Amino acid sequence: MKLFLKLSFMAKDREDSLKHIVAVAKRRGFVFAGSEIYGGLSNTFDYGPVGIEILQNLKKLWWEYFVHKRKDVVGLDSSILLNPSVWEASGHVGNFSDPLMDCKQCKTRIRVDHFLEEKKGESFCTGKTLKELQKVIEDEKYACPSCGAVGTFTEPRSFNLMFKTSHGASEDNSMDIYLRPETAQGIFINFKNIYNSSRRKVPFGIAQIGKSFRNEIMARQFIFRTREFEQMEMEFFCEPGTQTEWFTTWLDYCMNWLTNVIGLKKENLRIREHDKEELSFYSDRTADIEYKFPFGWGELWGIASRTDYDLKQHEKFSGQDLKYHDQVQNKKYLPYVVEPALGLNRLFLAVLSDAYEEEKLEKEEMRTVLHFNPKVSPFKVAIFPLMKKDGLDIKAKEIVESLSKIWYVDYDDSAAIGKRYRRHDEIGTPFCITVDYDSLKDDTVTIRERDSMKQDRIAIKEIIGFILERMG
Ligand code: ATP
Repeated sequence: MKLFLKLSFMAKDREDSLKHIVAVAKRRGFVFAGSEIYGGLSNTFDYGPVGIEILQNLKKLWWEYFVHKRKDVVGLDSSILLNPSVWEASGHVGNFSDPLMDCKQCKTRIRVDHFLEEKKGESFCTGKTLKELQKVIEDEKYACPSCGAVGTFTEPRSFNLMFKTSHGASEDNSMDIYLRPETAQGIFINFKNIYNSSRRKVPFGIAQIGKSFRNEIMARQFIFRTREFEQMEMEFFCEPGTQTEWFTTWLDYCMNWLTNVIGLKKENLRIREHDKEELSFYSDRTADIEYKFPFGWGELWGIASRTDYDLKQHEKFSGQDLKYHDQVQNKKYLPYVVEPALGLNRLFLAVLSDAYEEEKLEKEEMRTVLHFNPKVSPFKVAIFPLMKKDGLDIKAKEIVESLSKIWYVDYDDSAAIGKRYRRHDEIGTPFCITVDYDSLKDDTVTIRERDSMKQDRIAIKEIIGFILERMG
């Protein structure tokens, strides 16, 4: 067994650590810049062979915990394109905007709230009008962060974040529609369909995973804030008056999933309650689960008590009765809603950051290792034949075939064994198995654990039990 010294996070500072994560993400095929061979398209990303495995694992673990494990939640896959009235009813046409201004000299576009909050502190802009924000910028004589000019900002204005597109082939008949900026509204407009067809009784929830689009002005920090992203949202419909209790239940449930199922470190998570000023107009309580990203704390999961705002609005705009008929109490009411809304790509960044470590081994050797929870790892096991000949490769492929019935397994016969270990450390494979000449004689293999780098000699027939026992 190799001795090694843990230097948890060797990166000099936090920004540096993000650069290291971005580099390993590209080198090993987690995440690539979008449209790269054409010079890229800013803020778009493609998920490579190991990245997609992590996304799929996270979605599966979320679906199991939020839908299958619960008898009071069902799933949905609604359209990305919705009737534009949906967004008028929800308030997105009128209110879903960010304040922005341009520097007239260098043409840099700036998000006013981010700009001021960096200078004046978190929540400084909450509740202030655009005119008030403009006055602060002028009074303080703030310079453009890009060219340094003073007094060159345009008036701040509201910029709607929804992507517009056309529905219909001919110019005359086409209609302006939007790409959905959240998955939630697809759930609200299907509330009646689902409660009629699935015979659910309030309280119950509807969960959905899908892409959302926001024309973010300041898309930044790798995959933290992008214009195209995936959300995992659940709307939990409950009787008015019970929402506070359900809010606490779901907040705990989400935290439990992050720490006990995904395995994020507790010290990198915190809950931040919104104060009255910050609360959205439709919410009577909201809290964010924040993660300590390499660039600082940021929202990972928003848990909002949305009252009956959405259903009430859709009743008003659609003219349909969306009330729930409680047959036991013999009364009709619009349910209140508690919504846990999580961004899949942000979660992916949290998982990468949490798992990333640079370790100094003996003889000044370094290794980068991703300590993913095995449930999240792209491959659970990798099999290496010592050489690509003498039947070692055939024996290794037999093991791959039998283990592939249970897990996603990699076969790797390129380069020296040490190099193969490094590659799998960097993609977070929890177990690597080497097939050598003794394996041909006595049906044993060497199995190495990623985190401890401990190696054991075990019989091929013991592999599954050995791994299951350690995966938990
Ligand atoms: P933020 O304040 O960071 O813009 P938000 O409060 O607008 O986020 P919600 O509308 O509550 O976010 O969306 C729920 C979740 O979706 C967020 O907690 C986040 O994980 C994710 N999310 C929102 N916007 C983006 C984005 N542009 N890129 C990636 N993920 C996002």
